[in-house]
Amino acid sequence: MFLPDATLGVARSLDSLDLANVGLNGVMVNTYHLIQKPGEEIIKKLGGIKKMMNWSGFVSSDSGGFQLFSLIQKNPNLGKITDEGIVIYNGPKKQRKIIFTPEDSIRMQFVIGSDVMICLDDFTPPEANEKRIEESVLRTIAWAKRAKTEFEKQLKKHGFTETNRPLLLAPIQGHDNEKWRAYCASELKKIGFDIYGLGGWPFTKDDQFDYSFCQKNAELTDKNSLRFALGVGSPENIVRLFFMGYQFFDCVLPTRDARHQRLYIFKINPKILDRKTLEKMTAENRLDEVFGHLYIGKGQFDSSNEAISDFCDCPTCQKTAGTPQVSKAYLHHLFKIGDGSAFRLASLHNLRTYSRLMEVLRH
Ligand SMILES: [Zn+2]
Repeated sequence: MFLPDATLGVARSLDSLDLANVGLNGVMVNTYHLIQKPGEEIIKKLGGIKKMMNWSGFVSSDSGGFQLFSLIQKNPNLGKITDEGIVIYNGPKKQRKIIFTPEDSIRMQFVIGSDVMICLDDFTPPEANEKRIEESVLRTIAWAKRAKTEFEKQLKKHGFTETNRPLLLAPIQGHDNEKWRAYCASELKKIGFDIYGLGGWPFTKDDQFDYSFCQKNAELTDKNSLRFALGVGSPENIVRLFFMGYQFFDCVLPTRDARHQRLYIFKINPKILDRKTLEKMTAENRLDEVFGHLYIGKGQFDSSNEAISDFCDCPTCQKTAGTPQVSKAYLHHLFKIGDGSAFRLASLHNLRTYSRLMEVLRH
């Protein structure tokens, strides 16, 4: 399953009908951001995020830890991480403090009404020394334990049964320190979670996607475990991680890149692709023959009446009597004049490319 990021309850410029129309069945929202806007009380009054969005699909909610961590990392005056939770300073001179705990995050995810809830974790920074790695792993385990206790309390409170309850995910931390990452995974397994997440930053020091890190992480959990590659990735990343044993992916790439005029395309008609072929091509390192992209803002497209991709059946590329709904030239023009429809049309196309890929992997 691929879940586009709908941080504040919207995959930017698209509504829930658009998402369903391009074959998506899930979204990823962000707990911390939703607490800010529209806030817990309003979400409660509206009956949860699915009712608010009129979305009948699947919802996963990020704990908010990564966003808070990034904010604090950039500006330590905004808060700090303690064993109790994440402390956020509000107002000048740090006089008002809000503490966001693992329990708060879970409680809020029940208000949101997610199908997959994520435990608050202490993200291991890629540049962390061994002491900081140890601290982040021990805290991630302790917080996961508290999150699970709160999760079970909330299940009872909301009247869930074993067959209709949401799932709980714990991210594995420890960056690329094999000893601490293995320890984190083994302690989390003892507590017991439905899904294990790829926590941390899967990039090497020279900014290359780190496949060996993802492979090692997958091997830390039992063969039949469900694994979520949090924040991953490009079509090629997804295919390679799928064959390592990851089943869930969420990423801002298809929608963010669409807004930056980068459109993903299949170089081979996905109709003739299946899981086996992709597996073989992955093993032969030939995925660059399957996936490509183009920048629609480039001058070469200013008078092309072709579809973005002849293989695509998205609402943008869809043809009537051989003519695409939106040609490359027209989309190029819409971007040039800064019309908001360009974001929507490009996002629909990129998301359909992703959902199509998931259909290929499922069959
Ligand atoms: Zn398309």
